Amino acid sequence: MAEFYVEINAQANGDHLVHNAACSLLPAKDGIRYLGSIASCASAVKKAAESFRQVNGCPQCATSCHIA
Ligand SMILES: [Zn+2]
Repeated sequence: MAEFYVEINAQANGDHLVHNAACSLLPAKDGIRYLGSIASCASAVKKAAESFRQVNGCPQCATSCHIA
C-alpha cells in the first residue's frame, strides 16, 4: 500500500496527475487532494477519476500508470 494524491490543478493537456507521497514532483499540500492508502497506482487513478474527468499517472512516480 502507498499513500496517493491527485493534483487539484490540471496540466496544460488537462490531465490531473496522480502521485505517491514520496514523489519529488508532488506539489505543495494546498495543490493536492489525498486519495488514501491504496494498493496500486491503477486503483489510485480510478479513485481520482471519481473527482476529476481527466486523470493520469505521474510520469516519475507512477510510470506503469502513466499514459503518454
Ligand atoms: Zn509523481
